[in-house]
Amino acid sequence: VLEMPAFIATKVSQYSCQRKTTLNNSNKKFTDAFEVMAENYEFKENEIFCLEFLRAASLLKSLPFSVTRMKDIQGLPCMGDQVRDIIEEIIEEGESSRVKEVLNDERYKAFKQFTSVFGVGVKTSEKWYRMGLRTVGEVKADKTLKLSKMQKAGLLYYEDLVSCVSKAEADAVSLIVKNTVCTFLPDALVTITGGFRRGKNIGHDIDFLITNPGPREDDELLHKVIDLWKKQGLLLYCDIIESTFVKEQLPSRKVDAMDHFQKCFAILKLYQPRVDNSTCNTSEQLEMAEVKDWKAIRVDLVITPFEQYSYALLGWTGSRQFGRDLRRYAAHERKMILDNHGLYDRRKRIFLKAGSEEEIFAHLGLDYVEPWERNA
Ligand code: ATP
Ligand code: MN
Ligand code: MN
Repeated sequence: VLEMPAFIATKVSQYSCQRKTTLNNSNKKFTDAFEVMAENYEFKENEIFCLEFLRAASLLKSLPFSVTRMKDIQGLPCMGDQVRDIIEEIIEEGESSRVKEVLNDERYKAFKQFTSVFGVGVKTSEKWYRMGLRTVGEVKADKTLKLSKMQKAGLLYYEDLVSCVSKAEADAVSLIVKNTVCTFLPDALVTITGGFRRGKNIGHDIDFLITNPGPREDDELLHKVIDLWKKQGLLLYCDIIESTFVKEQLPSRKVDAMDHFQKCFAILKLYQPRVDNSTCNTSEQLEMAEVKDWKAIRVDLVITPFEQYSYALLGWTGSRQFGRDLRRYAAHERKMILDNHGLYDRRKRIFLKAGSEEEIFAHLGLDYVEPWERNA
């Protein structure tokens, strides 16, 4: 822990891509509170207030010390009045009455449950809330609701999917993905991205990026992988999104843009050998006791052309806040447009090629930030 004199608040950047944010959060008490506030504003579709709290949370996560006095946040960016009020309350009272109010709010509680279902966002939650529904149990019981295929799967495997994915499970799924992909394309590069690449040991899903070095592309790869898993009985759900990438198209300037890669949001069946095999060890006994020997796991697969791989890797590694700030930094400080496909220099009117994440940071004039320091 750094002593205060070594720490110069005015030198802290407002952009998380100019800070190092590891998983050692010295200010969890505050950042948890901000994340509740941000989520509540997200549920109210107030993007500005939502982002204000997400930026504040991200900033406190990067501090090398715990905030204990208001003086500690003096001179720091991203500390607006709303944010300061909550910090002050937590310092003085140990908790924030505003945050407690949100946590007890009927609408917040219902939306929190609804949005925890795969395939359910704020719009669907709003609809269900207006219909008088309040819990996932009530949603499951309501047979008149019109659900998408995704939401049906989300409800069917709800318990498995809300219980987080462990690092061990991520490693097991990683082996399956790599083996399957390599039966079709032996040279393919399969990389785990998302939270696990940032060093997290739990996640809500497992994200993979798949590319084939060299000129050869295989548009059918994803379909082949999915078909094989179907045959093997490993696929519980899948939604394949075909590529919508258009060459020469300028990168999107939206803050939270979806990309145009071919991808698949899937639910895989991961078999888990039972630890206590003393009582049930034959398949017959398993069946009779109806012991479930698998867990449903959310998996995202993204296929990228090799030339765009580094940009895709940077985008899919996240965190979401880190990605938002990279794009905001590119736009506001460099007159460049960054997305998961590339980087466009508006002054030079050219796309900047990059063969590694390091090169992208260099194009942006930023010091390199390691994946485990991107937990903004
Ligand atoms: P978790 O442990 O909750 O999964 P995560 O950081 O891995 O955390 P994800 O939602 O899996 O979160 O997303 C990983 C990264 O990929 C994020 O930076 C996010 O911005 C990006 N991402 C997620 N979904 C999409 C999408 N549909 N299009 C483009 N980028 C996405
Ligand atoms: Mn993820
Ligand atoms: Mn994901």
